[in-house]
Amino acid sequence: MKDLQTRWGIVGHEWAVESLEHAIRTKRAAHAFLIAGLHSVGKMTLARALAKRLLCLTNDAPIAQHSMFGDAAVVNEPPCGECRACIKNAKGVHPDVMILEGAPSRDYYTKNGSTAPPRKNDREKRILLVEQIRDMEKWLSTAPFEGSHKIGILRRFEDANEAAQNAFLKTLEEPPSHAILILTTQDAGLLLPTIVSRCQPLTLRPLPVETVEKALAEKWGASPADAELLARISGGRLGWAVRALESPHVLESRREALESLNALVRQGRAERITSAGGLAKEAGELPQVFETWQTWWRDLLLLAHNQAPRVTNVDYMPALEEQAGRFSDEDIHKALTATRAAARQLAQNVNARLVTEVLALHLPQG
Ligand SMILES: [Zn+2]
Repeated sequence: MKDLQTRWGIVGHEWAVESLEHAIRTKRAAHAFLIAGLHSVGKMTLARALAKRLLCLTNDAPIAQHSMFGDAAVVNEPPCGECRACIKNAKGVHPDVMILEGAPSRDYYTKNGSTAPPRKNDREKRILLVEQIRDMEKWLSTAPFEGSHKIGILRRFEDANEAAQNAFLKTLEEPPSHAILILTTQDAGLLLPTIVSRCQPLTLRPLPVETVEKALAEKWGASPADAELLARISGGRLGWAVRALESPHVLESRREALESLNALVRQGRAERITSAGGLAKEAGELPQVFETWQTWWRDLLLLAHNQAPRVTNVDYMPALEEQAGRFSDEDIHKALTATRAAARQLAQNVNARLVTEVLALHLPQG
């Protein structure tokens, strides 16, 4: 298998790194990027690597030097990992990088400024407020402190409410010449089209399962068995696999999500309404639950079409095979569509209980 590392030291997404590197070298890099892709697929890793690449001080040095005998001695390529800027970026303390993400509530924001506290859980609902956008705008308006750029990273921009998106649109229309803006989102469809059209899009796909497996074993020290299973059930999302390796809670939540789905399909209407109410009480967990459910229905479709080697939930094979024999293709397609719709409605702030009840009633009866 080929080398894991790309030139920016990140695993996978080679095409994105290559196209960005080419744009930077030919001085055609955009002022704004929109990195889209599934939860934990590597969007923030790429955003941080891009910031590091742009601010690396090796940038200003020639890429290759030639000795008097004419042979090229390659100088460290940016990001070199060794200069003052690279070291600050690795520690997350470079003064020319600002990362903005939604805050849990307005109260919190007014008390604490733009620094959001750590998330209680991975999918805690947050809102990116217009005040935060204004803070970033003000920060961007002055010259860089140390580097050639000021880089604003706006994480999960789908959390920005309409006022914040509109305020940000103004920044995007006339950014200061030293400003580079990088947005990340799970779903560009949730952003204003006028924002999307002003950014260079980079859509990240899940990595090949073998790449995740190799990375878990080589970079994160996973045992061969853990690496194989986690790579498979991560569906190619390296960030998810690493968290699952480091925290048993991640696998436990997945197990609970799959068990609640398997219980639902065996229940009648009245019971489903009750179960849905229970699930909706943990509204912060629901996006993750619905994502896990989607992997289940996709697996059933794969089994129905003799694609067993591509199944994600390999550790649930007997249950999958049993259901694949019971549900029609149409049932499975309907369930998958309904689950996707529910995930999107949640992101659009439709009432969690209503969304979960409607979905529960649309699942096939097993
Ligand atoms: Zn450097």
